[in-house]
Amino acid sequence: MANVRRGYGAGQRIMVTGGAGFVGSHLVDVLLARGSTVVAVDNLVTGSKENLAHLAGERRFALVEADVSQPLPAVPELEARFDAIMHFASPASPVDFTRIPIEILRVGSVATLQLLERAVRDQARFVLASTSETYGDPLVHPQPETYWGNVNPIGIRSCYDEAKRFAEAATMAYVRAHGLDCGIVRIFNTYGERMRPDDGRVIPTFIAQALRGDPLTVHGTGEQTRSICYVSDLVRGIVALLDSGELGPINCGTEQEMTMRELAETIVRLAGSTSEIRYVDRPADDPERRRPDLTRASTLLAYWPRVAAEAGLRHTIEHFAGGA
Ligand code: NAD
Ligand code: UDP
Repeated sequence: MANVRRGYGAGQRIMVTGGAGFVGSHLVDVLLARGSTVVAVDNLVTGSKENLAHLAGERRFALVEADVSQPLPAVPELEARFDAIMHFASPASPVDFTRIPIEILRVGSVATLQLLERAVRDQARFVLASTSETYGDPLVHPQPETYWGNVNPIGIRSCYDEAKRFAEAATMAYVRAHGLDCGIVRIFNTYGERMRPDDGRVIPTFIAQALRGDPLTVHGTGEQTRSICYVSDLVRGIVALLDSGELGPINCGTEQEMTMRELAETIVRLAGSTSEIRYVDRPADDPERRRPDLTRASTLLAYWPRVAAEAGLRHTIEHFAGGA
C-alpha cells in the first residue's frame, strides 16, 4: 500500500521552480488538473514560455519570470503562503555543464537554501528534484538509494552532480534543524515532448538527427547504458511523492536499460529514417551504466512505470516531427 498522507488538490497553492522547463511544465499541468493553484518561477535559461502557452487564461496559474538564485521578487503572485514548494529549476543537459557551470552551482545551492527558508516560513512541504547523477559513475548496479555514489568532485560534470548533492544535504539539514516536511526524488533519464531539439541530451538529439536524415552522433562505442523514462510516468511518481509525505530520497524512472547504440538504432527505425550511426568522441566522466533500483518507489509510493520505451519514443518522435 502506498503511504498517502495528504493530497495536494483544490485550494492548495504550489510553487514550481523551473515550471517553464520540460519536466516542470508537465508537473504544472498535472497539479492544475488536480485543482491546485500553481505559480511557476522560471528565468527561462533553458525553459520556454511556449511550454506553458496552452495555459493562457488559466486563472489558477501564473508564471513569474525570475532567477531563483536571487531573492524572490516582491510580486503579488509570490506574496501569499504556499502549501508546497517544488524545486525543479536547474539546467540538466551535460552540454550546459560546460556552458553555464556557475549558474548550475548557484541554482543547486543558493537557490535551494533560499527556497528551504521560504518553506520554513510558509510551513510548506518542500520537494527537491534531485538526480541519478548523485550516484556519479556508479560502481553498484542497479543503484539503490542507499548507495553513496562515485562522483569526480572536480570533473566537468561536478557543477551539476555536486550542486545536487549539496541540495540534498541542505534539504536534510532543514529536516533535522527545523523539522521541515521534505521529499527528495532522484530522477533518472526522462524524455518526452517539450524537450528542445537542441537540448543536447541524447534522446532529443537523436530524434532531431533522425528526422533531418543526419548521422546519429553516438558517443564512444555506444555500449554505455541508460534506463529511459517517459515524462508522464515520472510526473506520476513525483506527485505520488508530494502526496505521500515521504522524505526519501526515492529513485524515479524505469528499469528499461539499453545501450546508446540500441537507443540510436531504435530511434532510426521508429522514425523511418535513413540516417546512419556515427561514432564520435565520448565526453569525460560519462557514466558507464545507469539503472534505478525501484524497490522504494514501488513499496512507498506504489509507483511503477507504465509506458514502454518504444511507445514513449514513438510518441515523442511524432511530436518532434509535427513541430509540437
Ligand atoms: P529543463 O532545462 O527543461 O528545465 C529546467 C528549468 O529550470 C528551465 O525552465 C530553466 O529555465 C529553469 N531554471 C534553471 N535555472 C533557473 C534559475 N536560476 N531560476 C529560475 N529558473 C531556472 O530540464 P528538465 O529536464 O525539465 O529538468 C527539470 C529538473 O529535473 C531539474 O532540476 C533537473 O536537474 C531534474 N532532472 C531531470 C532529469 C531528466 O532526465 N529530465 C533527470 C534528473 C534530474
Ligand atoms: N550521448 C550520445 N550522443 C549524443 C548525446 C549523448 O551518445 O549526441 C550519450 C552520452 O554520452 C551518455 C548518454 O548518451 O552516455 C546519455 O546522455 P545525456 O546527455 O542524455 O544524459 P546523461 O545521462 O549523460 O546525463
